Amino acid sequence: VVPAPSLGGATTSVETEPSGIVQEAEALLSQRVANEVSVTVIGGGPGGYTAAIRAAQLGGKVTLVERDELGGTCLNRGCIPTKALLEAAETLRTVRRARDWGIEVGPVSFSFEKMAQRMQRTVKQLRTGLEFLLEKHKIELVRGTARLVGPTQVEVQMNAGGVRAIQAERIILAAGSVPVRPSLPGADGLGVVTSDGLLAMTTQPERLIVIGGGAVGIEFAALFQELGTQVTVLEMLPTILPTEDRDVSVELSRLFERAGMTLLTGARVTEIVNLAGEPTVTYQRAGTTSEVTGEVVLLAVGRKAETEALGLRAVGLECDRANVIVNDRLETSLRGVYAIGDAVRGVGLAHLAMAEGVVAAENAMGQHREIDRELVPNCLYTHPEVASVGLTEQAAQQAGLAVRVGKFTWRASGRAATMGEREGFVKVIAREDDETIVGVHIVGPRATDLIAEAVLVLKFGMNVTELAETMHAHPTFAEALVEAALATRGEAIHQ
Ligand SMILES: Cc1cc2nc3c(=O)[nH]c(=O)nc-3n(C[C@H](O)[C@H](O)[C@H](O)COP(=O)(O)OP(=O)(O)OC[C@H]3O[C@@H](n4cnc5c(N)ncnc54)[C@H](O)[C@@H]3O)c2cc1C
Repeated sequence: VVPAPSLGGATTSVETEPSGIVQEAEALLSQRVANEVSVTVIGGGPGGYTAAIRAAQLGGKVTLVERDELGGTCLNRGCIPTKALLEAAETLRTVRRARDWGIEVGPVSFSFEKMAQRMQRTVKQLRTGLEFLLEKHKIELVRGTARLVGPTQVEVQMNAGGVRAIQAERIILAAGSVPVRPSLPGADGLGVVTSDGLLAMTTQPERLIVIGGGAVGIEFAALFQELGTQVTVLEMLPTILPTEDRDVSVELSRLFERAGMTLLTGARVTEIVNLAGEPTVTYQRAGTTSEVTGEVVLLAVGRKAETEALGLRAVGLECDRANVIVNDRLETSLRGVYAIGDAVRGVGLAHLAMAEGVVAAENAMGQHREIDRELVPNCLYTHPEVASVGLTEQAAQQAGLAVRVGKFTWRASGRAATMGEREGFVKVIAREDDETIVGVHIVGPRATDLIAEAVLVLKFGMNVTELAETMHAHPTFAEALVEAALATRGEAIHQ
């Protein structure tokens, strides 16, 4: 007697006699087919394709409906193209500094058009990989625009023409978001673009005005600044990156201004007028009305959930304006219909959409999972990079939490010195009572990779001693996290 192959988690014992094994396997297979749940996912962005793959892994019969390119905003108009361009700017910076390392290079030039072409190749390559993954998981890809017509019915206006009706036991809404155009005079004028428009450009603007100093606006500002464009950022709030720790936005503002960027905070834009082919932005700041003219104006003032076409209200599904309302299991007001990603919040992050995709798919397949949005890392791929997780010092103060703050500057890091990086810091916030680490904020080299360790530290509730007693290789960037944690006690070794 040997254990039979486990299907659907069940292990039984059968006789080794071959026909017995075959019969048993067939019985289990038919049982599994009978239990197969049909899942339809609307939207093929990071939330949607992750949900589709997870549901398929769990045995679901999955259909994914996408009206445009697979990969959604993230792959086609967001995370990946921006990082491909920022990486090109970083390479340019390295080549320009090569002499510092004793490397002689001739005159350095670049083509923005070729950088944009490389960006497109990178996107295409990843999209091909995604198509392969869907095929591998036997997910049916339906190309068209979906609409909910009932809790188990979806109607698709096919891209190739015609309408297709899909019946599904579970539906996952992952329709994402689109950029907001504010209701500002001139916001739809010539030379005024959103992130979608800017990423489609193949020529570099000489002067760029960015309206909005959040993550999207600042990444574009940093990119074009590095390439030599004259950049002005207009932000209504008193600081850029207003959700980051105050020290982070102060440090980044200092470094950007030193590099020649104009940062106008507390500036309220009132109108955009296109005079003689160039957009001029009028803004009010400290009681004065001023103007700035650019070649291109980027509107980076937020995004909006793309749920209008889904027909949600008609089927009685509750929304808060465009955002779909969900519970902790990511189920909507209609049983068996789930929603994830930017569709539930308008503006979001790809890794949050993906984490929600897993939770929604597992719930759709009969498990009981709740989403944990406590520890969502935030990253900015500028130079220097920025990354953070947990409480800011200001949030801790507002919550009345007694904390100690430790800072380690990259100037004191051996590894950073080998890379020629000196700017920025790692800031650790720990509770005063038991030294549990509750926040980590990094400005500097490899911040976006280093934050992964900080997320683990917070997730497992580690304190300063536990982190300090975890050996870190030398020389590495990760050592700075330990040093900053020790600095909360005034005990950093290298500073
Ligand atoms: C410039 C920029 C840079 C960014 N950089 C980062 C970053 O570095 N890191 C990060 O984490 N996040 C980043 N983001 C945010 C990230 O792109 C989004 O949070 C993420 O893509 C959301 O994923 P999603 O699956 O919810 O939706 P989306 O990626 O928006 O995908 C939704 C998909 O649904 C499709 N769809 C919509 N309606 C229908 C319908 N009715 N029928 C069929 N299909 C439909 C759309 O065509 C789209 O493909 C960036 C965003 C922008 C704009």
